[in-house]
Amino acid sequence: MAVPERYSRQQRFAPIGAAGQERIAAARVLVLGCGALGSAVAEQLARAGVGTLRLVDRDFVEASNLGRQCLYTEADAAAAAPKAVAAAERLRAINASLHYHSVVAHVSAANIDEVLSDIDLAVDGGDNFALRHILNEACQRRGIPWVYGACVGAYGCSMPVLPGETACLRCLQDELPAAGDGPTCDTAGVIAPAVHLVAAWQVAEVLKLLCGDRAAVRRELWISDLWAGSFQRLDTVKWRDPRCRACGEHADYPALAERDDPAIVLCGRDGFQITRKAVPDLARFAEGLGPALLSANAYLVRWHDDQIRGTVFADGRVIVQGTGDEARARSFCDRYLG
Ligand SMILES: [Zn+2]
Repeated sequence: MAVPERYSRQQRFAPIGAAGQERIAAARVLVLGCGALGSAVAEQLARAGVGTLRLVDRDFVEASNLGRQCLYTEADAAAAAPKAVAAAERLRAINASLHYHSVVAHVSAANIDEVLSDIDLAVDGGDNFALRHILNEACQRRGIPWVYGACVGAYGCSMPVLPGETACLRCLQDELPAAGDGPTCDTAGVIAPAVHLVAAWQVAEVLKLLCGDRAAVRRELWISDLWAGSFQRLDTVKWRDPRCRACGEHADYPALAERDDPAIVLCGRDGFQITRKAVPDLARFAEGLGPALLSANAYLVRWHDDQIRGTVFADGRVIVQGTGDEARARSFCDRYLG
């Protein structure tokens, strides 16, 4: 399909125009997390013609994702396809003219700079604040704008973070739901309209930034509850904290200085992620599992033992589901992986 025809409606929108579309085509955008929000954001960005999309996610597709993670199919869930790979495949079918870069990895302070290399702008598709703080600080340090987004239940919130101009995530952390003390997708669930509302807010700001209309970028945190019909906005220039440890004059980037906790509690999944020092030979491991084996591919092996399920990835990460007890999760890992 000819490029001008494909993007003609978007290009006819005066603030974008032909020049804006060219800038969008030249842009390199990171989508960090390809779950519900990341899927919805990535699809809109691919349809909008963003030249390069780096899709990063550590997880695989499961049946419980299909209610709202719009890039995935039943076949992806049956194959336990890594989300970053399945997302790129689906996006390629939607718009083959773009560059997709899939990264199947757990992102931490140790690799965030690599994940952000050559990126113009980042979009938060994640589900936890530890990762968002790492992204926030790495973007501040590099001077890259990023767009925060989160949802739970029927509630969603979003704000663009412009280094040097607006408050950052850490400036506002008292205003945002903190990890561990708010409802999560585990306790309160989440509905697809809340996801798409936040994704739309995020992508609108991404398009403004990419096409060069920086003046139009909102300097506000938007919060809405779709069920209650509420909408709030908070001025994020006014809320900038000059003593902020991530964006203030004497920033020391505390999240980037932290080392990974060995076990991470998984939001909404009744389980843990444990990183192994020894990287297993996946094919050999799968062979040895016998009837405990659920599925295996080049990226991962899944297995089970009554109520507990394990998924080991080629980089040594293990996701243990079916127990809220960290010790039990570790023992399950040790029993199978040695
Ligand atoms: Zn700040």
